[in-house]
Amino acid sequence: MYRSHNCGELRASHSNTEVTLSGWVQGVRDKGFMIYIDLRDRYGITQLYFDEERTPKAIMEQASKLGREFVIQVKGNVIERASKNPNIPTGDIEVLVSELNILNSSLVPPFTIEDKTDGGDDVRMKYRYLDIRRNPVKNSLIFRAKVAQEVRNYLSSDGFIEVETPYLIKSTPEGARDFVVPSRMNEGQFYALPQSPQTFKQLLMVGGMDKYYQIVKCFRDEDLRADRQPEFTQIDCEMAFVEQEDILNVFEGLTRHLLKEVNGVEVEKFPRMLYDDAMRLYGNDKPDIRFGMEFGELNAVTQHKEFGVFNNAELVVGIAVPGGNSYTRKEIDKLIDWVKRPQVGALGMIYSRCNDDGTYKSSVDKFYDQDDLAKWAEITGAKKGDLVCVLSGDTNKVRAQLSALRMELATRLGLRDPKVFAPLWVIDFPLLELDEETGHYHAMHHPFTSPKPGQIELLDTNPGDVKANAYDLVLNGNEIGGGSIRIHDKKTQAIMLKHLGFSEEDARAQFGFLMDAFEYGAPPHGGLAFGLDRLVAILGGQETIRDFIAFPKNNSGRDVMIDAPAPIDDEQLEELSLKLNLKS
Ligand code: ASP
Repeated sequence: MYRSHNCGELRASHSNTEVTLSGWVQGVRDKGFMIYIDLRDRYGITQLYFDEERTPKAIMEQASKLGREFVIQVKGNVIERASKNPNIPTGDIEVLVSELNILNSSLVPPFTIEDKTDGGDDVRMKYRYLDIRRNPVKNSLIFRAKVAQEVRNYLSSDGFIEVETPYLIKSTPEGARDFVVPSRMNEGQFYALPQSPQTFKQLLMVGGMDKYYQIVKCFRDEDLRADRQPEFTQIDCEMAFVEQEDILNVFEGLTRHLLKEVNGVEVEKFPRMLYDDAMRLYGNDKPDIRFGMEFGELNAVTQHKEFGVFNNAELVVGIAVPGGNSYTRKEIDKLIDWVKRPQVGALGMIYSRCNDDGTYKSSVDKFYDQDDLAKWAEITGAKKGDLVCVLSGDTNKVRAQLSALRMELATRLGLRDPKVFAPLWVIDFPLLELDEETGHYHAMHHPFTSPKPGQIELLDTNPGDVKANAYDLVLNGNEIGGGSIRIHDKKTQAIMLKHLGFSEEDARAQFGFLMDAFEYGAPPHGGLAFGLDRLVAILGGQETIRDFIAFPKNNSGRDVMIDAPAPIDDEQLEELSLKLNLKS
């Protein structure tokens, strides 16, 4: 028996009990005539005590030679400590060791394995298995497991069945590049790893499974923008005989359940916001509604004067920054530099100070009088003491820029409290999205999303105006998940694919199996998927998902611990009938 108790378990009530513990040596304090060791395992830390008078000499000697991260087993008696440590649950006791067994030695670890570590990101990623011994990472993984467990509890008690779907499949169009796997047995042919189980879960509905879910890995070969992983986990769901309302209710229930069970937070019914309103009021389809600072469109109150910058703009739009009139000229100049950074891309920023005496002072006083500026304040909701910041330009661009500014200012103002949860549904997304570079439309969600009833005819005349039965769940400015009611008849699916630029042959080659299935009594169906990694990070009050993933990739998509990706040898290439044509 390696242990009778774990390292987080013993209390004063265990005094005078003989125990056996196993774990890692976190630290040794050797005072010569007495030695203290912190013994760690997943459950906590217990102090081991060796003293000259009571511990056999040979054991004293062995103990003094133990290094950090040695794995040991000890037997001993639980005694109450003379000086207690109120900071740890086992702080009232220590174990007076009578037997010591070294189970394994350890090299000196490359960083300290304590809550506060001296290890930088790279070294901790390389030795991730050591990092996992630290509380911040360990606790994040335990937290993730709790969330996953609650998801399973909720969905299975609502009649959902967890079904696994394959990883070696063919392209699923979720808008990213596929990771591909060459097939040895089918020369020159490749599997694609699923960007999501989308088509399979629809086939499960045709198969009559009715309510499906799966906690599943998805793979997308995208440029890794901040905090994305090439493989990530979804809570993937699909339901048959449902309308949008049914799906929103089930998954609002799931989210509420998680907030309650995991965070102890009760949330009111989630607000619903039309996509068009989200874009108009927040410049963003995943608005953070923990705070106000809604956009005010100012075309009508700015384009009547001689100010060319505004007159030539498609959209003039502003926000009120609470208390922003206290910013010095220099601070405002810095803000202007901030919006002009290439990542934001604004050409400049106009501002108007709302003075405490009710007057205004703007950077464009030459063009606008007090009455004009009063209207800017009124439309953006600015009060005395606030600052109105105004951007102008092409609608889509300027909305994105002002949204970035809004989020930045809110962060600086401390308005994005991670302990406050503000979920909402954003609904009625456009069906299609114009790719400005190619001039073609893609599916905004994916090609299986159904247009709103009666809108299919619009596809020919005003494709950009067609709305979909598609929805996203947004939490604190993050898209937690999204889904849609699907097309379930072959004819509509064919029209949709045609509009997305698929020839009949391409559509057949790529999605023939789904269109065929639709000819055998496909029920109306819909679903959604939540991103588990991000959901867990937000519930855990963190911004980054990496700590909640046991073995994450770095920003260049590498696993630096196992050193992947890596070349394969010539023999393997030969077997796969592949030749490399490297560009560098
Ligand atoms: N497959 C979709 C996604 O990965 C989710 C859905 O439509 O259910 O975003």
